[in-house]
Amino acid sequence: MERVKCLILGGGPAGFTAAIYASRANLSPVLYEGIQPGGQLTTTTIVENFPGFPDGVDANTLMDAMREQAKRFGASVRQGTATAVDLGKRPFKVVIDGETELEADSLIIATGAQARYLGLPSEEKYKGSGVSACATCDGFFFRKKTVAVVGGGDTACEEALYLAGLAKKVYMIVRRDVFRASRIMQEKVLAADNIEVLWNCNTQEVLGDGFGVTGARLLRKDGTVFDIAIDGFFLAIGHTPSSALFAPWLTLDAAGYIVTEGKTSCTSVPGVFAAGDVQDPRYRQAVTAAASGCMAARDAEKFLIEQNS
Ligand code: NDP
Repeated sequence: MERVKCLILGGGPAGFTAAIYASRANLSPVLYEGIQPGGQLTTTTIVENFPGFPDGVDANTLMDAMREQAKRFGASVRQGTATAVDLGKRPFKVVIDGETELEADSLIIATGAQARYLGLPSEEKYKGSGVSACATCDGFFFRKKTVAVVGGGDTACEEALYLAGLAKKVYMIVRRDVFRASRIMQEKVLAADNIEVLWNCNTQEVLGDGFGVTGARLLRKDGTVFDIAIDGFFLAIGHTPSSALFAPWLTLDAAGYIVTEGKTSCTSVPGVFAAGDVQDPRYRQAVTAAASGCMAARDAEKFLIEQNS
């Protein structure tokens, strides 16, 4: 059975940054990319807010560059997804794709999170051409346009307020007659001149012209069906962290995010570290994920030095 000093699960900004730091620290990391090589970022097109790219950078190009940078320092980057883990004792045991077993002296979990979508075929069709689950990533493309945000939680309010600063008009599509968001966020939304809340509404279909989004067909609870004209359709109905595999072993919060100690990447099991969106319900940015990947590699390095001394 292969034994590795530092095993990294997840091929997004957190995982690759952890691999860059761990390889430069001579930990010979092995990284498995998981189901979505390149991570969530690859569901968007141009990344305009990653520092160092004044003209923006294609998301896949950015992730390919991170992968190459990790390989350059000796990280072994592989295709595969962890399907079973035993974190009960060290070395940890990890099974990849149900067949390859590895032992790991330290483990960095950077498996990310998945934005929730409504599950409409029309929504799927326009993903990346008007449908987005990240206003901070894609809002800038909708300057002076009309957009809709689905959801009534803190994220939806935050995204609507962010978009209201860029777009001409923002609709919020809320399925009940109340927000779930905190009072302060609700008040801010209701005070914004260019946000209109459509209460008791569910989206039946995202409308488009084959190239991009042109509207949405909504069903109000009273049975009325009506269309709104929009250029962008933003989902903010929550995220699901990819942490189920680790639930029997690690402390997770009520929403399933891996709990880390203070300002570290340490989980409830010594030697297991978490980085990126799987432990971050709040910031969820490529640059914050990358930063936490760096922290996890440094924490793993320190842990391994302490174990050997
Ligand atoms: P939440 O679970 O809090 O809210 C999800 C929202 O989406 C709810 O309004 C929910 O409606 C709605 N929704 C869910 N499914 C559907 C659907 N299928 N169709 C239409 N609407 C749907 O998720 P958030 O991402 O907003 O927040 C997650 C956590 O992060 C919360 O604890 C939040 O407080 C926190 N957070 C804090 C922030 C801050 O402090 N600045 C910023 C962002 C998030 P319903 O209410 O009817 O269930």
